[in-house]
Amino acid sequence: MQVYNTLSRGKEEFAPMHDRAVNMFVCGQTVYDDAHLGHARTYIAFDIVVRWLKHLGYKVNYVQNITDIDDKIIARAREKGIEPIELARQYEQRFMEDMDRVGVKQNVSSYPRSHDYITAIKEQIQLLLDKDFAYLLEGDVYYDVAKFRDYTALSGMKMDELEKHRIEPKEGKRNVYDFVLWKASKPGEPSWDVEVHVDGKAVRLSGRPGWHIEDTAITHSIFGPQYDLHGGASELMFPHHTNEIAQAEAAFGVKPFVKYWMHSGVLNIKGQKMSKSLRNFITIRDLLAKYPAEALRFFVASTHYRKEINYTEELMRDANKLMYYVNQSVGILNNLPADENASGEELVQAIGLLEKEFTEAMDDDFNTSLALMRLTTAMRRVRQFSDEKGGIDQRSKETALGKIVALGDLLGIMSESLYKQALSAEVVQMIKKREELRRTKNFDEADRMRAEIESKHGIKIEDTEYGTVWYPGGAPSPKER
Ligand SMILES: [Zn+2]
Repeated sequence: MQVYNTLSRGKEEFAPMHDRAVNMFVCGQTVYDDAHLGHARTYIAFDIVVRWLKHLGYKVNYVQNITDIDDKIIARAREKGIEPIELARQYEQRFMEDMDRVGVKQNVSSYPRSHDYITAIKEQIQLLLDKDFAYLLEGDVYYDVAKFRDYTALSGMKMDELEKHRIEPKEGKRNVYDFVLWKASKPGEPSWDVEVHVDGKAVRLSGRPGWHIEDTAITHSIFGPQYDLHGGASELMFPHHTNEIAQAEAAFGVKPFVKYWMHSGVLNIKGQKMSKSLRNFITIRDLLAKYPAEALRFFVASTHYRKEINYTEELMRDANKLMYYVNQSVGILNNLPADENASGEELVQAIGLLEKEFTEAMDDDFNTSLALMRLTTAMRRVRQFSDEKGGIDQRSKETALGKIVALGDLLGIMSESLYKQALSAEVVQMIKKREELRRTKNFDEADRMRAEIESKHGIKIEDTEYGTVWYPGGAPSPKER
């Protein structure tokens, strides 16, 4: 499998450091507000990466941090008149609900919080002080960027370009681009007391960690000094990921800190990046009030993860329609009557080809847009087959269905449980009876029966040109929204 590595600016054969085990980290949420579609894009894109790696047989330890110490949390808590920790826990809870609904949470191995890593952070700062990569300045600790060679390897920036960025201005810093590892706290802010040693003397620091060191403290604690894959949104490449490399490689003395760096493209709305500060965001919650989670995942997967997405309501509606088209096709095949004389061999072959093409696309740097296009196109074949044959032998049906649903599940646009659920004999009888009612144009009675099947058994019934299609309660809504 080929993976595009930001560090080498090219595709590389994927080979983790330890055989079939992959240690993977993605920068997580700063919990001071609800997550929006820009966040959804990142987390869904990397969720698909994890699903694919697991499908290939890798054991993935997927860690995503929760930033619960941050200026924005402190400021928002002050506005609301509550403690920062209280605000952080509230939004963390809401974030977990969102991630559960979009099918991401189940694949994350752990969500460590920065609060729990203060000791690891202190130890890393001590290492950097000992090795002279860090220095004290009035209760703060800064990283001396000039000491670290290859500082711009990840971003590809020139050193003089760095100076244009406003990085934590402070009188007395050795270099303008030096970044903070530990920040002295102002009165009323959450703070921790730690002791470090400088030139053999103990120094007490009262404050909180800088943002970048949280990640390297967490990953060092969980994975050790090196790991396989670090993902995140492209805007984190500099300074955040750049500083992570500087911290880890200087503190632990091994290289590379991370073997593969993957960055997802931005999500724009009306030509601007969707962000809290621009107030142009749509929350995941607001979107899910209008569309099923599968439609959101379909929308994200429609674009290659490295490309930017320009969100419009129209594109979202199109994604919803296509997601529904795919799911309905599966329903049509699932409802095709068993007929041992109607050989489904040609359909099984077509789905076998789909599987091959889908795999080729995904193995080429997770090309979900191509994989999804192949899947959607194959559904046309499913409908054509259903139309022509009107029945299928049981074995072919199960093989074809199983493969399609497994592929859909790799993108999270279908749930395997949906079509594996068998109908009870009672419901099968009711559906048959209803079809008879429709044939004899007894439509009022047929409608009444549909309502009964839905309310009593949680099964949605839909009449299509291919016959009756049923969906268990949790299936994507058959109605276009
Ligand atoms: Zn991070």
